[in-house]
Amino acid sequence: MIRSIIHLDLDAFYASVEQHDERQLRGLPVLVGGRSGRGVVCACSYEARRYGIHSAMPMAKALRLCPAAVVRPVRMDRYRDFSRRVFAIFARFTDRIEPLSLDEAFLDVSGCERLFGTPAQIAAQIRTAVRQETGLTISAGVAMNKFLAKLASDHEKPDGLYVVPDPPESFLLPLPLKRLWGVGPVTCLRLEKLGLRTVADLRQLSEVRLEQLFDSAGRQLYRLARGEDSRPVVVGSAAHSIGHEDTFDHDLQDPLELHRSLLDLAERVATRLRSKSLLGSVVQLKVRYEDFSTVTRRRTVEPPLDSALAILQVAEDLLLRTDAGQRPVRLLGISLSQLQEGHEVQGELFWVEQRSRLSALDGAVDQLRLRYGAKGVQRASLMPESRDESTPKTGGDGGDSS
Ligand SMILES: [Mg+2]
Repeated sequence: MIRSIIHLDLDAFYASVEQHDERQLRGLPVLVGGRSGRGVVCACSYEARRYGIHSAMPMAKALRLCPAAVVRPVRMDRYRDFSRRVFAIFARFTDRIEPLSLDEAFLDVSGCERLFGTPAQIAAQIRTAVRQETGLTISAGVAMNKFLAKLASDHEKPDGLYVVPDPPESFLLPLPLKRLWGVGPVTCLRLEKLGLRTVADLRQLSEVRLEQLFDSAGRQLYRLARGEDSRPVVVGSAAHSIGHEDTFDHDLQDPLELHRSLLDLAERVATRLRSKSLLGSVVQLKVRYEDFSTVTRRRTVEPPLDSALAILQVAEDLLLRTDAGQRPVRLLGISLSQLQEGHEVQGELFWVEQRSRLSALDGAVDQLRLRYGAKGVQRASLMPESRDESTPKTGGDGGDSS
């Protein structure tokens, strides 16, 4: 069956609401987030993005890039109110709505032509209604599946409407690979090393070759490079968890390598949590061994977390309850669930300091290992000084599952 999907995404949502409510902020660089030294940018206006500012950046850094920026605190109730009004507009056209966050959703408008016109006309009507009734701009992408629709809404942002042609090649082939769903910095780097930069480049690789390189993710890359995505619009399901996982080029057994991987995962998960203003109270670690057997370990934490350091510490503890290190590991994953809106009090500056200290330590250990061999040097404790003051109090230890 041919489906018609619209992806809708409000432009710089929180910042736009602030500019809507305070007329004098229009046209100015506006940052939404905590002002204190440890605050993080939750959202920024397009005027602020020109200075290289993006969400999840430490506020102090953003203000160094643009000292004239106006900072406003997060007003979640106000944003929720706008979100409700925008989703009510969506619901006039279809009840097949999959919310992704307060400001973003997929709509399945297959079969709505007779009532409301083509998918492109429906998207245009929604954009007009949102502008007239809320004063906000929303970008829309129209396509035959979710993957392409989401790429399309970003294509003409802000205040854009893009309809993916059928067949989609003229749109899809020139896109850089980092735009593909599931292609993070690590995968991107590996693809670049193979000389691949665009979707057109990726198309040159066979499905077998991609599977050799990226396992099951390779199959997905093969399909995405062809614009294929069969996921249906799932009504009313907001994200229940946020996570990342990495399959390694070679199986890991070295504690330092395992630690580095967890560090990287924790940072990516934390960045996504903060960019959505979410905290998670259940941390889950996933470990897949070289024989593909997989275990998960999880823990409930109180208070809930969104900083990389805190997530890393729980993940490290959970890792000790697996055979990682004794058995080679082919995949690690960290996810947070039981999500709620908010920000961790502990700030990112603290984390940035820890991070540079860790990197320095990593460098020193590397030097020693070069001199004495990998087994000769192992860190007694990966984070010797930070444990006591900042380990979150852990509540009921969740059950293990395999
Ligand atoms: Mg948005």
